[in-house]
Amino acid sequence: MTAATDIAFENTFVRDLEGLYLPWTAAPAPDPRAMLVNDALARDLGLDPGVLRSPAGLGLLTGTAVPGSATTVAQAYAGHQFGNYSPRLGDGRAMLLGELVTPDGQRRDLHLKGSGRTPFARGGDGLAPLGPMLREYLISEAMHALGVPSTRSLAVVATGAEVWRERGPEPGAVLARTASSHLRVGTFQYAAATGDPDVLRRLADHAIARHHPSAAGADEPYLELYRRVVGAQARLIAQWMHLGFVHGVMNTDNMTISGETIDYGPCAFLDAHDPAAVYSSIDEGGRYAYGNQPGIAQWNLARFGEALLPLLSEDTDVAVGLATEVLQGFAEGYQDARDRGYAAKIGLDAPGPLLTGLAALLAEHRPDHTLFFRRLSAAARGDDGPVRELFADPDAPAEWLGSWRAAGPDPDAMDRVNPVYVPRNHLVEAALEAAVRDDDLEPLQWLLQVLAHPYDERAGYERFAQPAGPDAPRFVTFCGT
Ligand code: AMP
Ligand code: MG
Repeated sequence: MTAATDIAFENTFVRDLEGLYLPWTAAPAPDPRAMLVNDALARDLGLDPGVLRSPAGLGLLTGTAVPGSATTVAQAYAGHQFGNYSPRLGDGRAMLLGELVTPDGQRRDLHLKGSGRTPFARGGDGLAPLGPMLREYLISEAMHALGVPSTRSLAVVATGAEVWRERGPEPGAVLARTASSHLRVGTFQYAAATGDPDVLRRLADHAIARHHPSAAGADEPYLELYRRVVGAQARLIAQWMHLGFVHGVMNTDNMTISGETIDYGPCAFLDAHDPAAVYSSIDEGGRYAYGNQPGIAQWNLARFGEALLPLLSEDTDVAVGLATEVLQGFAEGYQDARDRGYAAKIGLDAPGPLLTGLAALLAEHRPDHTLFFRRLSAAARGDDGPVRELFADPDAPAEWLGSWRAAGPDPDAMDRVNPVYVPRNHLVEAALEAAVRDDDLEPLQWLLQVLAHPYDERAGYERFAQPAGPDAPRFVTFCGT
């Protein structure tokens, strides 16, 4: 374990990808205070959590005092936001400190969000309020514990500065997060738009080296990179769907090349299973609704393919043909992952006709998504009362339940893939409110602790498994992050 000042960052992104970043330094943090530090993640990274909490550690986590080995930059990227192309987004309020190589040999970006205005800030203030940074910490760590590839959260440090949002002044904060990289579809769009094939090629080579080293040996490495990213995203989106996760802002700049979930803004978990569920106040058209996510992922991957075209063939028609064929694999990859996952959720070894009936049952009657699957294991053990209670008409699922029971589902296997606890929207909001308004972190600590073991049912924790009551107002997430 090393002192904060001795941390050895590597900087392969900066070394390889000139043209895709601007050197940058963080804004001052007048009175830094550690709100959350992820001790377990720190240790996995080879960092000492005690050191992270020290003044030198807070300097690192706010970017105000970084070790000599760090070359801090704001990354450039473009992106389609709600379908509209912006040629220059980039990290407006974030900064890459560099890469850490963990004791077990993994390369991880350490990245700060809320560290001040960068040249990419456009109209933004470069800052982040405490509430949304605590929210990203909580949900990203919950996703990781649920087994979903995700960026991780190392710490949230309140800066002591004020941030102005719609509600008035709020405490400012910096989130320190890790990722296997911060390469996005939007990074490739930016590189392609430079018109310099060398920039694009360096980016693709860097992505291959980092995420798919074995693709380097393929006959067509860049097509192989595309194929693997399409596959990783198909599997990722299937996991979101299984868990009822709604990302909320699937712009191409918020879709990674690694296949990790990134940028937890207006995201939410379903309560009632509803394909049209939208939680974000700015998603008026429902573009990023729960049930639209696979189609949107495919659309984003088409934009990725377009960016890669110059690397696939000198002949554009040939390149388009190659990319189209790979992109067509998304639907197959997604459906396969979706069906295998749903088969596992209902305790069967392989997908079959029961899945069609299941989808129809859920869409028509909209039971609580998480409780439905978890209570199904009780039904497999012989007690179908609890699952039937989730339906306005408890007889509605009877026929499907009958056919399904006859298929011999394995309830223990089901309990390993159907969580008891997900970040319930009303609990998340209450915990954030206590943290920000009352400076009381206890509800958030409880939630973090419960969500660290989402598949293990624990006595006394019943309220963490319950949806908001029927009289609760419709839950909306705001983008005032
Ligand atoms: P997001 O929707 O959070 O992924 O952000 C989209 C883009 O807006 C990215 O380029 C961000 O860096 C930028 N951005 C978001 N909030 C701010 C802010 N407060 N100040 C500067 N840039 C921001
Ligand atoms: Mg983003």
